[in-house]
Amino acid sequence: MASTSRSVSASNSFDRKAAVDRVLKLMEIPGKSCEEGRVVEFIRGELLTAGYQPDQITNDEVHKESPAGGEVGNLILTLPGTLKAPRRLLMAHLDTVPLCVGSKPALKGGIVRSRDKKTALGADDRSGAAVLLTAALEIARQKLPHPPLTFFWPVQEEIGLYGARFVNLKKLGSPKLGFNWDGGSAATACIGATGAYDLAIEVEGLASHAGVHPEAGISAIAIAALAIADLQQNGWHGLIRKGTQSGTSNLGVIQGGDATNVVTACVKLRGEVRSHDPKFRKRLVKEFQEAFERAVAGVKNSSGNTGKVRFTANLKYESFQLKETEACVSSALSAISAVGLKGETRISNGGLDANWLSARGLPTVTLGSGQHDVHTVNETLQLDDYLNGCGIGLLLATGEA
Ligand SMILES: [Zn+2]
Repeated sequence: MASTSRSVSASNSFDRKAAVDRVLKLMEIPGKSCEEGRVVEFIRGELLTAGYQPDQITNDEVHKESPAGGEVGNLILTLPGTLKAPRRLLMAHLDTVPLCVGSKPALKGGIVRSRDKKTALGADDRSGAAVLLTAALEIARQKLPHPPLTFFWPVQEEIGLYGARFVNLKKLGSPKLGFNWDGGSAATACIGATGAYDLAIEVEGLASHAGVHPEAGISAIAIAALAIADLQQNGWHGLIRKGTQSGTSNLGVIQGGDATNVVTACVKLRGEVRSHDPKFRKRLVKEFQEAFERAVAGVKNSSGNTGKVRFTANLKYESFQLKETEACVSSALSAISAVGLKGETRISNGGLDANWLSARGLPTVTLGSGQHDVHTVNETLQLDDYLNGCGIGLLLATGEA
């Protein structure tokens, strides 16, 4: 929706110094996944100080549904519109990876780094959280007109997208357009992402004395090794390309055995498969399962017995791809060009909170807020990307783009 009444674009009319102070403060607050309480309290305090009413701010109880538990649920600010238009959702996750705890943000030459070299910065995703907070506070401070709005700060993104996965969409006011800030360049709109299954595989063999009667045992390690070799040699492990179809897979954890003089009875493995194509992703799961079943059949003890495999595949997140004509995408691209950037779209090979919202019927585009080298001690916040992100956020929140 284009503004007709204002000559100065809202993207240029926010308090930039306050926006910078805000993101520095947010990145300093410890709050890894499941421990987001302090950052919730900080944002709630800022919203109340700005004049929002306690009954407009809710904390849901999503942590009680999450398999990870956690101390607090999602934070949600719901506002009726002063303009008649479809409800818009602005979102950014509250949690960081554990490496960010202890971050000491310091700004130098337009780049923020942690002064403590042993921590990551936490720009992922406190820069996104700050984009939302800036939009909410500027709307209150400047009394800006806006469509119905939901500001949504989910918890537990980093450990499985749980806040976004389990949120009750009715609590979000049933928005029609979704905008998520969780990325680097302010010019990039991520309009799709891959889908993934988590794999848990338990191989059961039979223990026996490795020196006296090794032939009576069934080695779970041998079974796992055969299965992994089978997958690797047939092109199902790592980067997978089969004709026009593609995906990735990884067995990332293997545990088992505690003595060299015992035939190992149990090995546990954990892995994942990813593909943008849901059918091919299911095929990958099937190939993994069949490789382990073949391996089980291939290892027999002297009595002709075989081991067993327990195989579970859980959908971690569903893939999605939005059209460039989708309302949230075209609004995002026009906001990006309104702040003077040349917008571009991309598809992600990682999972985002937007996966769950898009899969549940709320098309959600993911935008950048200046975070780079996330999840490492080299993480930075690029200030111009962050401030452009704030400008884009305000344009989208006020319905000017
Ligand atoms: Zn993130």
